[in-house]
Amino acid sequence: MKPLLLVGGLALVTLASPASAQTVTKILDNGPDAEKKVLVVIGDGYSAADMADYQQYVQDTVIDGVFTHDDFFRANHTAFNVYRVDVNSAQSGVSLRRYSSGCGTSPDNDDVLNTTCNATSSPACYTHDTAFDYVYTGCWGRCWMEGSANTASAIKTLLDQLVPKRDLEVRVLNVLTGEGGGCGGGGTLAVTSGTSWQVLGHEMGHMVANLFDEYTASAYSSTTYPGSVDTKNCSTDLASPVWADLITIPTPSTFDSATMDVDDTVGMFQGCGTYGVGVYRPTSNDRMRGNSNQFCPVCSRVLSQTLAGFTDSLADYAFYANYPGATCQPVGGAALTYTTGANISNNTAATASVLCPTRRIQDANGAFTNHLMGQAFVVDQSPTEDVCCQLFARTPAGDLATGANVCSTGSSSGYQQLLLDFPKVRMPYTFAHFALKCTLPAVSSGKASSVLTYRIGEQTY
Ligand SMILES: [Zn+2]
Repeated sequence: MKPLLLVGGLALVTLASPASAQTVTKILDNGPDAEKKVLVVIGDGYSAADMADYQQYVQDTVIDGVFTHDDFFRANHTAFNVYRVDVNSAQSGVSLRRYSSGCGTSPDNDDVLNTTCNATSSPACYTHDTAFDYVYTGCWGRCWMEGSANTASAIKTLLDQLVPKRDLEVRVLNVLTGEGGGCGGGGTLAVTSGTSWQVLGHEMGHMVANLFDEYTASAYSSTTYPGSVDTKNCSTDLASPVWADLITIPTPSTFDSATMDVDDTVGMFQGCGTYGVGVYRPTSNDRMRGNSNQFCPVCSRVLSQTLAGFTDSLADYAFYANYPGATCQPVGGAALTYTTGANISNNTAATASVLCPTRRIQDANGAFTNHLMGQAFVVDQSPTEDVCCQLFARTPAGDLATGANVCSTGSSSGYQQLLLDFPKVRMPYTFAHFALKCTLPAVSSGKASSVLTYRIGEQTY
């Protein structure tokens, strides 16, 4: 019995050891999973030695990329919770497979596998032992990458354990050649480690709302759209597309950079859904066409409809209030000006800091709020410095949690709105207080910079 048990024990250890390397980390927390769209990011082809690179990629492209720089996802980040799952692969880099020449110009008739995988395929193919056996092909006509027989089930088995409630999956493939590409739709997408946040944002348009591509594939540039379509962001109905209520220019539309905005002026621009003729997109060039620009108003509306009920509403906040800027106090006794409009302005010759308090309350259940967000309405009249504001929470013992330091752009007599809601400031200790700090540039040619108003929202979760 003893040797048998020992063997069994060893076998169990061997089986269990990969699982010990599988961890899950919540990297964006907007409340209970049941109330949010839960996005899971999981990698393949990352060895233990690659794990720091994987984690950095996820931070850079998902949190500091799409959710920070894409206007739609930035404004709607409260609809999402994001988990990062770390899984070690035995070998570094997913497998590489190549198809014969022509792959990428048509999805149907060029899928001849390059079985030789010799030096003429650049680089040569290889099969690696990775956690989920993904294969990168670089073939547009085959969606850039493909799973193996057990890929879907292996990912499902693991995620059912680690993130049982999930709505969206992003799979990041470590592609050693550095090639890009993404394949998404219906709640799942795969991208490579060479994919930019802009491309990830485009693929998230497919994944979250099943948006169409708005670009034209080179092979179809002169091809008429087969059949008809009039939904989401592509339409063959020139007279009355689903976005007719948003159109502000003559149709069919020709882009004029002097009078139109490339991703905001809505009309009917020919070419959509990868076809070049007889089908129209809403704007000249938005994220679903060229990746780099923002989502157009039509795509944004479709995305918003998909996320309705998941973004925070006022009812989700235990406390939500606007304060006059004159509530702020100067740091170090600077002689700042409190205006009759209840603003605070810096008319001195030196940069000044102000501290702007808020209450930290107990919610209806008697728990102190533990998440903080806000906005600041400021005036920046300095040609050389910005007004910058940052939320923070601090305990008497000195524990500090800070939000993003957000600065104004340019200088103007009009107000600017600084968004201080991403990511939210989390403070678990009940003795902490909440506040906002801002820096105000020195007076410039008699023009002062100011905090007009600030808004504070608090939640418990
Ligand atoms: Zn669009």
